[in-house]
Amino acid sequence: MRTREHVLVVGGGVAGLALAAALDPRRVHVTLVEERPERAGAGTVLAMWRSGRVALDDLGVGERTRSASLPAERAVLRDAAGRDLHDIAASLWFTPRAELMAALEAALPPSLSRLTQQVTDPRALATQVGADLVVGADGVRSAVRQHAWAGTAPVVTDWIALRGHLPGPPERTATEWWGPGGLFGTTPGPQGAAWFCAVRGGRGATVDPAEALALARGHFADWDPRTREVLAAVGGQADAQRILLAPRLRTSADDRLVLIGDAAHAMSPNLGRGANEALEDALALAAMVHRHGTKGAPRAFSRRRHLRGQVLRTAASVGLRAATTRRAAPARDALLRAAGSLS
Ligand SMILES: Cc1cc2nc3c(=O)[nH]c(=O)nc-3n(C[C@H](O)[C@H](O)[C@H](O)COP(=O)(O)OP(=O)(O)OC[C@H]3O[C@@H](n4cnc5c(N)ncnc54)[C@H](O)[C@@H]3O)c2cc1C
Repeated sequence: MRTREHVLVVGGGVAGLALAAALDPRRVHVTLVEERPERAGAGTVLAMWRSGRVALDDLGVGERTRSASLPAERAVLRDAAGRDLHDIAASLWFTPRAELMAALEAALPPSLSRLTQQVTDPRALATQVGADLVVGADGVRSAVRQHAWAGTAPVVTDWIALRGHLPGPPERTATEWWGPGGLFGTTPGPQGAAWFCAVRGGRGATVDPAEALALARGHFADWDPRTREVLAAVGGQADAQRILLAPRLRTSADDRLVLIGDAAHAMSPNLGRGANEALEDALALAAMVHRHGTKGAPRAFSRRRHLRGQVLRTAASVGLRAATTRRAAPARDALLRAAGSLS
């Protein structure tokens, strides 16, 4: 007779690794399937909010990630011309994505089963490995989501996100520039600083980094000189991707299947919350599996986390519009300056 339940986790990103680390191996056997394990450390830094840091503590990797993270002592918001809109003492941490993934890897139990393959039919794979529950932790393009709920392809936006490292002296401030049609930022980073920006650029399927950089250099040409300096200093080094969003979902769970992380609520990255939410999802689902077993966990998880994910996804899109508006910029800037003078 089987003593442990069996969970199939599709996707070994932040959400999938965190879930595999959080499930008690004495009670649950986990099979983790990842199609491209070599991509695990891609990306630059992730802003870690207090809730994300608490989640890392709960996973037992708080100290390790904290020691690899870079704190920002101030967060500054500027308009496109470089005028301060808001300047606050901050308690943000920027965690190199590679370090976060390495810490989560180190927390995985030795009993974990791993497969390297692209999942196209998650229910068939669950039957094949004998899993009781399928967890779609397979990101914004989620094959699990699209298999379980028809018509849930990702939403393709006309925004392109670029990011990269900026070697130099250690950056201690997180700075963001907001202006018409674009957003630019610099943060602490493992090579000194990291940078990111978002610009509008068609809806084609592929994004060529060199073309995206040229687009960004054109867009930010008459912004604060600092944005131009950064884009000049990075040469050809940039990671560029189209911003895709998860579609609006009425539910992210059924009796034997549940979505977590970007598969459920991929949002535009301007809030800097996606990985934090992925960690929180993973811990919440693990707690539900321990409490209710694999049968009751999906619905219980959905009751606790689904609405929050959908609200944040919408809030991020509204936030991106507010940051990059032309028409409402004067009112927005006046409000931000007024808020700054009160604090
Ligand atoms: C430019 C940018 C900046 C960001 N900055 C921040 C930030 O500062 N703070 C923050 O919290 N978040 C940030 N995010 C968001 C964050 O990166 C994501 O929310 C987070 O990585 C989601 O984790 P996930 O595990 O749900 O999905 P993913 O990281 O996308 O992982 C999904 C995994 O599933 C695998 N997979 C996909 N399909 C299949 C399949 N069919 N079969 C098998 N495996 C599959 C993929 O290879 C991947 O490894 C940013 C995102 C972007 C784009």
